[in-house]
This record gives sequence, C-alpha cells and structure tokens, in this order.
Amino acid sequence: MSILIVGSVALDTVETPTGRAEEVLGGAATYASVAASFFHRVNMVAAVGEDFDQGHVEYLQGLGIDTTGLVTYPGKTFRWHGKYLPNMQDRETLDTQLNVFEKFDPVLPQHYRQSELVFLANIHPALQIQVAEQVESTKFIACDTMNLWIDTARDELVSLLPRLDMLLLNDEEARMLSGHFNLLRAARAILQMGVKQVIIKRGEHGATLVTEDSVFISPAFPLDEVVDPTGAGDCFAGGFMGELARSEYIDALSIRKAMVYGSVMASYNVESFSLARLKEINMDQIEARYELFKNLTSFY
Ligand code: AMP
Repeated sequence: MSILIVGSVALDTVETPTGRAEEVLGGAATYASVAASFFHRVNMVAAVGEDFDQGHVEYLQGLGIDTTGLVTYPGKTFRWHGKYLPNMQDRETLDTQLNVFEKFDPVLPQHYRQSELVFLANIHPALQIQVAEQVESTKFIACDTMNLWIDTARDELVSLLPRLDMLLLNDEEARMLSGHFNLLRAARAILQMGVKQVIIKRGEHGATLVTEDSVFISPAFPLDEVVDPTGAGDCFAGGFMGELARSEYIDALSIRKAMVYGSVMASYNVESFSLARLKEINMDQIEARYELFKNLTSFY
C-alpha cells in the first residue's frame, strides 16, 4: 500500500535542559516520512523556501522518499524554535515563522492521488482538507494536529474529523478539543465528532488507542536518557503508517502492531537532536527493539 504524507518541513532551533541545536532539519512531514521510509516508500508533500539545503532533499531521496511533491516556493523555509522544560515533555514555542507555509497550496502530483494510506501531519487544517479532497482511492486517512490549530482553526479541524479514520493528538490537545480532562472521556467525545479511531500520545507514558468498542495501550520504550523529544509524535505516526503499508492489511490487530512500531520509531528519534539517530539505525535494530517491546508487556 502506498503512503502519502503531507505536513511541514522545517528548520528547527531546539533547546533542551542539556543542549541546543540551531536550524536543524525538522518538521512534522520530515520526521513522519523518514520514520515511515524504513518500512515502505513514501510520497511526500510539503513546501520549502529557496534557502533550503539541497543536501536535505538528497538525504530524503536517498531513503526512497518521493519528493516530487516537495515544492520550492519563493521566500524562506518554515522555522520553529522550541524550548523544553526540565521534565523533557512539556515545551514552550519561542518562535514560529510560517514563511512559505503562508502561501502553501498543496496540489498533489498525479501519481500521488492513488495513495492508499494518507497521513495529514501537522499543518493548518484547511491545507489538510485540501489534500484529503485530492486523494482518490484511499483506504485509511490519519491526521495529527496541535494546540495552535485547536485554538485558531477549530471549525476547520472539526469539519475534517468525519473524513478521518484516525486522529492522533497528545493528551493536552485531546483535553482542549473535547473539553474533558479525563482522557477516556476526551477520546470518546472526539469519536462522537465523527472520527473512527483516536490515538492519544502521552510521551513517556506511551500511546492509547480508543475506538468505539476497544482500548489498547502501547507503552513508550524506557530510556535512560532523552536528548530531544522533538518529532516523537511524528515518528510514531510515520512508523505506524509505514508498518500498516508493509503489512498490506488494516484491521484491529495490524493497527495495534503498527502502534508498537510507531513507539519504536519515536523511541529511537528522541535519542538525538533532529534526525541524527534515525540516520544511524537500520531495520534490524527496529525489529530488535520491537521484540523488546513484546517482553516489556507480556506477563503470562
Ligand atoms: P512534534 O514534536 O511531534 O510535535 O513535532 C515537532 C515538529 O513540528 C517540529 O519539527 C516543528 O518544525 C513542527 N512544527 C512546530 N510548529 C508547527 C506548526 N505550527 N505547523 C507545522 N509544523 C510545526
């Protein structure tokens, strides 16, 4: 099954209690596409500016990512600057420069339109809707969002939900969108808005899938040290979509398995700034950590 991923490609400046990275490759579509590329070919849709290093494009292409839909616009690449609190989970956005994303008009290349799996990574919901309207034979659409859009583009986000098979969001965002503090209630209220399944990402506490009639929990991999949590959610989504594509099957069991692969990819990603750790690992290491996940949770 082919995968389409749309979202941001960014130059990130990230501060953590232990270090700092300046203008490094980031963005929701980047993290998700790189994570998914271990499992399957990805069709990527995003915008960058004229200042974007061609070396980054070559890196993505080297992973088998189709960058036909990665369009260069006049102006500068999207920039994001975040600072993590000592708990390494909560963060403050110090600066967001939309730059080319202010004019981004995602038009899917013809050969992307038959993509069977679609991941609408974090961008303005109006752009996510625009992409969802262009795909023709989709079997599964998943979508991520963030507090900014729940705050500023709520109506568009809510109108997108009935088109989705899955919404991924973190605990704080689930509470904001639903108005419920209890996360199970929050997830159920979001299901009532029309989306078929909800995954609530809870950082070091793992991810919870809620459907109309089931709940499943994938733990996060216990790590001695987290270097930079940026992109963990996107790597989770990328690993999830990649594994679904690889398995060629979408049912309750393959979704659970895909969540664990998502957790594996997120756990590797947070071991470095930007994509440094994902540049080092291979599929054998991914499978090895997947096996460790099984041991983490089996108790009989
Ligand atoms: P995550 O840690 O999974 O929430 O994703 C972090 C990535 O999201 C960073 O690489 C940022 O470049 C990107 N990002 C931050 N704010 C936005 C935004 N408003 N729109 C799109 N992408 C964003």
